[in-house]
Amino acid sequence: MATKSLHKRESELANTQRQLQILSNGIFLNGELPTFKDKIAETNQFPLKAKKLEVLQINVGYMCNQVCEHCHVDAGPDRKEIMTRETMQQCLEVIKNTGAHTLDLTGGAPEMNPNFKWFVEEASKVGIKDFIVRSNLTIIKANKKYNDLPDFFKKHNVHVVSSMPHWTRGKTDKQRGDGVFDKSIEALKDLNVVGYGMPDSELRLDLVYNPSGAFLPSDQAGMEKDFKKALLEDFNIQFHNLFAITNLPISRFLDYLIASENYEDYMYNLVEAYNPAAVANVMCTNTLSVSWDGFLYDCDFNQMLELPVNSKIKHISDYNEELLEGRNIVISQHCYGCTAGAGSSCQGTVA
Ligand code: SF4
Ligand code: SF4
Repeated sequence: MATKSLHKRESELANTQRQLQILSNGIFLNGELPTFKDKIAETNQFPLKAKKLEVLQINVGYMCNQVCEHCHVDAGPDRKEIMTRETMQQCLEVIKNTGAHTLDLTGGAPEMNPNFKWFVEEASKVGIKDFIVRSNLTIIKANKKYNDLPDFFKKHNVHVVSSMPHWTRGKTDKQRGDGVFDKSIEALKDLNVVGYGMPDSELRLDLVYNPSGAFLPSDQAGMEKDFKKALLEDFNIQFHNLFAITNLPISRFLDYLIASENYEDYMYNLVEAYNPAAVANVMCTNTLSVSWDGFLYDCDFNQMLELPVNSKIKHISDYNEELLEGRNIVISQHCYGCTAGAGSSCQGTVA
C-alpha cells in the first residue's frame, strides 16, 4: 500500500486535467457508454441545477495522518494545503448568515489544522442545527494532543461522522493502513465513554462505509445491522447510523482502478446501476463545498477535480447565497458514482 499521496509521488493522476481526460475518453468518447450529461438528459434532468442551500461543507485542509488507498482527496501527511484563520473568518461570516441547516467540516483530518479548535468553538456559537465534523477516528489516538477530542466534541455538541470500512481488522487495514482498525476501535470506545453513539444519546455518532474494492456498496440498512451486531458483540461499541458511500472514480480510487485493471468494468457497473430517481437528490443540489483556500465548488468531488462552481461568485469572500442558487451544476462521468443504485452522498444513500 502506498504511503505517499499521488502529489508526492508525482503521479500523472495528481493532475486533475489528466483525470478528467480519462473520464471523458475511451468508452465514453467512442460511445460504448453514454456520458453522464446524455444519461440525465434522457429524463429531462439536464442541466442539473442547485436548489436552496442546506449543507455548507468546508474542507479545512488536505493534511491527514492516514494515506487510505481509496482517498478522493489524495490526502496524507505530505499534503500542506491548510485553511488559514483569515479564510476561516470569512467562512464564519457566511455561517452566521447562511440559511443552511448543516455545517460539515472535513479534510484530510480536519483536526490537524492548527486553528481547528478555535474554528469549531466560534462556529458552534452560531447555533447551526447540525454541526458535523468528519473525523477519521485514528487521529484521536495519533498523538496526546488529540486525546481530548471526544470531550471537545461533546462540549460543542458536534455530530461526529467517521469512516469505518469494515468491522474486521483485515478489510479495514487493507484499505486504510496497518494498525488503523485497532486505533479506530479504541477511538470509538473513547467516544462511547463520553456518550457518543449511545442509543438514547443526543451526541450523534455515525459511521461511513465505503467498499474496499471495485464494487458497489450493498444495501445500507442491511449493512448497518451487520455493523451494529459485530461491533457490539466483538467490542461493546455502539453508534447511530451507517452511511454507505460509493467510491467515485477520481484521485486515488481512480489510480487503484487503473492499476488493478478494473476501470472500465467499474464504469460499466456504475452506468448499469444508474438510477434516474437518485438524480434529483444528488448532494450538489443542496450543498456547497468550500476549499481550504476559500474557493467554491458544487461538491467535494468537484473540488478535488478542480471544477469550480459555474457562477460569478467563486470565492467565500464574495459569497452570495441568492446568486449561487439556481446555478448549473458542473458534471462529468464521475457523477455516475452518485446515481448508482440507491445513490450516494456524504450522508449515505439518496434514493
Ligand atoms: S480517506 Fe480520510 S482518513 Fe483516509 S487519507 Fe483520505 S482524508 Fe485521510
Ligand atoms: S459528483 Fe458532485 S457534481 Fe457530480 S452528481 Fe455527485 S455531487 Fe453532483
